Amino acid sequence: MSKGKVLLVLYKGNEHAQQEQKLLGCLENELGIREFIESQGYELVCTDDKDPEPSSTVDKELQDAEIVITTPFFPAYITRERINKAPKLKMCITAGVGSDHVDLDAANERKIAVTEVTGSNVVSVAEHVLMTMLVLVRNFVPAHEQVIKGEWDIAGAAKDEYDLEDKVIATVGAGRIGYRVLERLIAFNPKKLLYYDYQDLPKEAIDKLNQASKLFNGKDNIVERVENLEDMVGQADLVTINCPLHEKSKGLFNKDLISKMKDGAWLVNTARGAICVAEDVAAAVKSGKLRGYGGDVWYPQPAPKDHPWRQMQNKYGAGNAMTPHVSGTSLDAQARYADGVKSILNSYFSGKHDYLPKDVIVIDGDYATKSYGQRK
Ligand code: NAD
Repeated sequence: MSKGKVLLVLYKGNEHAQQEQKLLGCLENELGIREFIESQGYELVCTDDKDPEPSSTVDKELQDAEIVITTPFFPAYITRERINKAPKLKMCITAGVGSDHVDLDAANERKIAVTEVTGSNVVSVAEHVLMTMLVLVRNFVPAHEQVIKGEWDIAGAAKDEYDLEDKVIATVGAGRIGYRVLERLIAFNPKKLLYYDYQDLPKEAIDKLNQASKLFNGKDNIVERVENLEDMVGQADLVTINCPLHEKSKGLFNKDLISKMKDGAWLVNTARGAICVAEDVAAAVKSGKLRGYGGDVWYPQPAPKDHPWRQMQNKYGAGNAMTPHVSGTSLDAQARYADGVKSILNSYFSGKHDYLPKDVIVIDGDYATKSYGQRK
């Protein structure tokens, strides 16, 4: 008789799971935590069958699960309806960062704790953001496609190719990822780095960026906090979104806000797909209002075959730098979030509940972080 059930929802690894043992985040490799969970007297059920609600394996197993673990890359959406049908559920763990796939208000009402492995993949995402910026600004995709097709059309690629240097770059959200993006951008000698966040960056963090810019680029005071989002996007050549998805950021980049952006700006979103209105972004890329859009987050996930971001292009047949949700799941990141999940479970099983404060999103019926909206 087990003490309780842990439900783990992961994508199928298929032959890739056999090829690479470090691919911990797939169904076959189970984050490497089966032995540990069973040694604690718990049962582990692992599945990739999460949709559609309410007829999937997730729906069936949630009925008596105590803990559910899922990743943002292949999220089991833990909706209010699913929570209502899961009377034993005590904890949702995100193997990664970003717990918006759980209805946090519904979790609070039931005093279900939501934890994640905060910080585990922020470097991985920041690197992906820089890559996506370069892919768009340097117009990499069409140039690379030429190579594969045996073509050599310099003008065809160069007509939409720019430099990152001397651009005004703005981040919506300057937390762990947003700040790391700003740090890495110094190397590209930007004209200005702007941020919009309701939480101030510490003075030392801003000083560090300004000093690095002065040292490497001879430019002082390049970092600026902008109080108004519309003002910020109106000044930026490139905007990157690095805030969580919550009620105030859902659909934030719609046609109204996009209309306030500079003509021909680029938009990079590795935060969450639902922060942008998919059709509005695709229309803006098509019309040239946006020169390009890139990132790796979609809604829902997996993205349907006809999702507008799969095929969208600007008038030059470029401007699309989308990948599936992979930025935060490098093999280095997988090792970190698998370890982090084990630590959270250890803390839960021991009865101490001594989680790292940064890992706790909601607990005891309330939000433990300021990142999911301005709350009292
Ligand atoms: P963080 O909590 O360190 O920082 C988030 C920042 O956003 C905070 O400073 C917060 O005040 C700010 N913020 C919240 N709402 C805002 C709003 N409406 N406008 C402006 N700023 C706002 O989180 P983080 O580690 O930097 O991660 C940020 C988000 O990135 C996660 O919540 C997740 O959605 C996403 N993420 C994606 C991947 C991926 O694989 N693509 C991986 C990790 C995280």
